[in-house]
Amino acid sequence: MQLPNYVNTFGAAMQRKYGHKVHKLTINADFTCPNRDGSKGLGGCSFCNNATFNPNGRRPPSVIEQLEAGKRVILKRTGARHYLAYFQAYTNTYAAIEQLRALYDQALEHPDVVGLSVGTRPDCVPDPVLDLLCEYRDRGLEVWLELGLQSANDHTLAQVNRGHGWAEYADSARRARQRGLNLCTHLIVGMPGERRRDSLQSLARVLEVGTDGLKLHPLHVVKGTQLARQWRQGEYQPLAFDDYVDTAVAMVQQTPAGIIYHRLTGTASKDLLLAPLWCSQKWAVLNAIHDRLHYASICRAQGAA
Ligand code: SF4
Repeated sequence: MQLPNYVNTFGAAMQRKYGHKVHKLTINADFTCPNRDGSKGLGGCSFCNNATFNPNGRRPPSVIEQLEAGKRVILKRTGARHYLAYFQAYTNTYAAIEQLRALYDQALEHPDVVGLSVGTRPDCVPDPVLDLLCEYRDRGLEVWLELGLQSANDHTLAQVNRGHGWAEYADSARRARQRGLNLCTHLIVGMPGERRRDSLQSLARVLEVGTDGLKLHPLHVVKGTQLARQWRQGEYQPLAFDDYVDTAVAMVQQTPAGIIYHRLTGTASKDLLLAPLWCSQKWAVLNAIHDRLHYASICRAQGAA
């Protein structure tokens, strides 16, 4: 499978830029989330289960220990020797600025870490946070701000108890881009009440404001969530495999070539995943996306001939 022939993947973009592989190593820095601690809301987003970030429920190991453990796995699998510390779990800008600096600095002390990718909510990136990330960028490090938008539709965001709307995303995205900071936008396909056209509308709104990267995944129904209750009561119908692949392909086709796809699908642990079960087969999804894009390119070539 040669997905980079049809999609500007993160792996290929890093290879072009650095001449070698650069992988993200995920970190759980024991943050919480304003949509869980009561400052924005309680209970969190309807699809979110804390355990997906921290399956054993224990306090996570140190940043360096996590980087070392992740590196051992990636090195064996791909041979990559340079990494971005990917602060992924919860809201990784939800702390005092000096605390954030200390955490990010810890990750950057690792000799093989060449940058940061920081995942957060659109309503948790005040200017000092953006300025801090720019400081790292200005030191020549690879820095990405990853904003979880999920949908650009306020009705959908309210329905999943997201605790922020499109306006907060648009404001944070504009401030990040004014500073020239790399921005990656997360979108979920299959949000309650949404169809393919809604995902394409979300993409169009994101592109209008501007982004440098996109991360897609299908909505997972995982244990212990409000969404799981809705699914059991027949109030939420999970996405079919073909619908996801069709939507992801259409989104890729409508994305300008310079925008980097950090991810085209996502998996949840088998212990937690309730539906759709095909979500655990990452390679089947990626192969199907590749095959559709390959077929579309053949059709285009034949049409042009
Ligand atoms: S998905 Fe993110 S924003 Fe929503 S509750 Fe979970 S950690 Fe918070």
